[in-house]
Amino acid sequence: METSAPQPRLGYRAFGRKLAFVVAVLVLLTGGIIVTVNQIIGQTVYHAVKEHAAAGAMDWANRFNADFSGSGGLLRNGTLSADQMRVIDAAILVGNVYAFIVYDREGRTVYSSDFGLIDVDANAAVNTGALAVAQSGVPDLTVIQRRNPSGSVSVYVDALVPAKGPDGIVVGTIQLYLDKSDISSLYKRVHDWIGYLLPAVCAIVYAVPAAAFILMREKAFTRQEHVRKLSMYDTLTGVFNRQTMTTKCKKMFAARTPDSRIGVLFIDVDKFKGVNDLFGHEFGDAYLQHIASQLKACIGPNDYLARVGGDEFVVVCQETTDDRLEALAKDMLNAAREPFSHKGTTVQGSLSIGVRLAEPDETTTDAFHAADLALYHAKANGRNCVRTYFPALDAALTRRCAIEARLRQALEHDDFDVHYQPIVQPKDRAVCGFEALLRLNDNDGNPISPTEFIPVAEDAGLIHDLGLRTLRRAICVAKVWPDHVFLSVNLSPAQFQRGDLDNAVEAIVTELDFPSARLDLEVTETLLMGNEESVSAQLVGLKQQGISITMDDFGTGYSSLGYLWKYDFAKLTIDRVFLEGLEFAGDRYSDIIETIVTLGKKIGIQVTVEGVETAAHTEMLDQLPCDQYQGFLFGHPMPADETLTHCAREARSHSAA
Ligand code: C2E
Ligand code: MG
Ligand code: MG
Repeated sequence: METSAPQPRLGYRAFGRKLAFVVAVLVLLTGGIIVTVNQIIGQTVYHAVKEHAAAGAMDWANRFNADFSGSGGLLRNGTLSADQMRVIDAAILVGNVYAFIVYDREGRTVYSSDFGLIDVDANAAVNTGALAVAQSGVPDLTVIQRRNPSGSVSVYVDALVPAKGPDGIVVGTIQLYLDKSDISSLYKRVHDWIGYLLPAVCAIVYAVPAAAFILMREKAFTRQEHVRKLSMYDTLTGVFNRQTMTTKCKKMFAARTPDSRIGVLFIDVDKFKGVNDLFGHEFGDAYLQHIASQLKACIGPNDYLARVGGDEFVVVCQETTDDRLEALAKDMLNAAREPFSHKGTTVQGSLSIGVRLAEPDETTTDAFHAADLALYHAKANGRNCVRTYFPALDAALTRRCAIEARLRQALEHDDFDVHYQPIVQPKDRAVCGFEALLRLNDNDGNPISPTEFIPVAEDAGLIHDLGLRTLRRAICVAKVWPDHVFLSVNLSPAQFQRGDLDNAVEAIVTELDFPSARLDLEVTETLLMGNEESVSAQLVGLKQQGISITMDDFGTGYSSLGYLWKYDFAKLTIDRVFLEGLEFAGDRYSDIIETIVTLGKKIGIQVTVEGVETAAHTEMLDQLPCDQYQGFLFGHPMPADETLTHCAREARSHSAA
């Protein structure tokens, strides 16, 4: 099965067939020409021999007349002198006349070269032909061709020519038998040569342009065929394009039997936009070609592969099973994880894959839709994974669309909120900072969790705008807080994709005249997994402004010490899942929290513990050298106008204590 674009090539077989046809036509044409030319030659030879014979016969007759008739010739007195006999012998010898007969004016034989003089009597037989020639004065010639046993052709001329007296009056008829075989064969040979040469010349004259024409036509056809085939393929990667995939799938779905199942895989290259923006389109193209060839290497001979969008591929498998689809998707994931290098730049990419094993009566559209939903699910689950379709995904997509619409609306009308959750010092529980947390309600006023709408905003390309607006809004609020209270704002990895986040932040901080030392920006480990220089540069840019950077939710991702070192974080926050875990596996989780806190102390990084909800939590945490606590025990995320009161109230209660 063809899955990649053809290389240009001539259709030699088709060309061979056409050439054979043309040669056959040429042979027939040439044969026709030869037959016709031969017939023409035959006629020409016949007439030429006849004319030659007529000229010879007339010549012979004139001599005969001059030599015989003038001296009281044969026809006058019926005698043959010795001179006349000599002339006859010479004439027979020279003129190839092997017999002749002389007739008088009445057509009666007077002399025959075979029988000599003949007594003419009134009752002698009359040769009507001779009589007619004598009366008309017009010669009568008949050419006789005879094929000899040896195969050669003898040509004779039976000529009846008028014999005239010295006064020009016809006195009789002379019948000559002339052998014209020599002259005939000479003519024939010459004409035969013409006959051979003529068709050959013709063949060359029309065969060359005909062959050139066919060759050109063939090339044009091959080119056309090549263009047609190219239009089936994606020009960048050489795999099928969307249109071809649609056509092939429609046929495949229509031809399937009740017990043969078709599998559809929707594949998305993770972070491709970032790769493109960061390393340029040339690198992006090479990366896509690499991915396409990796995918091609994974699929089977009966599978189709197509690129259906910028970084989206589709694989369709005939007669497949759940197990095979799962194995295929895993192979693809592994293949895409191999590092790819091009002109000195290396990226380690990944794929998100949505899988659908179509039901026997499912349409192409429905199967594709299901695989697309599964892909969306895979992306929402952190990418770099495979997800299979399940019916609830339909509802999930509807929800996602509604959230995206709500986000756009909120951005347009500035209709979202930011709440602030206090962060306290362990020693006196005094508020030392607030974390800004985005809030969004649906159209019915019900809150949508940031864990749900932030990924949608990232996917829809809205997070950059949303993130900067949150920062601006939060700084405006934080400006009225006491100087020792810092502001913490979350940053999405997607905000780093443009490559100028440090500048954008600096512009806002400068414009609002906010001390950057009071600003803390939280990033997650997923930002650092791409090991991108651009991310690193932007983090350095932010730190150079005096802003501190926190690694948020430490312990939930790769928890890489390498990242902590490399990017020189000021702080890490221990995700609340560890405190939640205390409920059912206390020791295990307290050990982890202790390890992380100790680690932070050792490498000089501050540690904030999130999710502090109960006295039991603080009882355990107070044993450790934690730097900050954050949790409902010290305050829920609150609206901006409550933050100042909260600070004042907390300050009062501490001074009272
Ligand atoms: P996060 O940055 O780790 O924020 C802390 C989350 O833990 C918040 O959830 C907060 O309400 C919750 N939390 C704090 N203390 C407790 C506690 O004692 N118990 C429990 N059960 N939860 C507690 P929230 O506001 O729902 O935010 C969830 C996540 O959404 C955030 O996790 C953050 O990753 C993201 N997020 C929120 N706002 C923004 C934003 O403006 N930009 C970006 N990029 N992400 C945001
Ligand atoms: Mg946070
Ligand atoms: Mg957190």
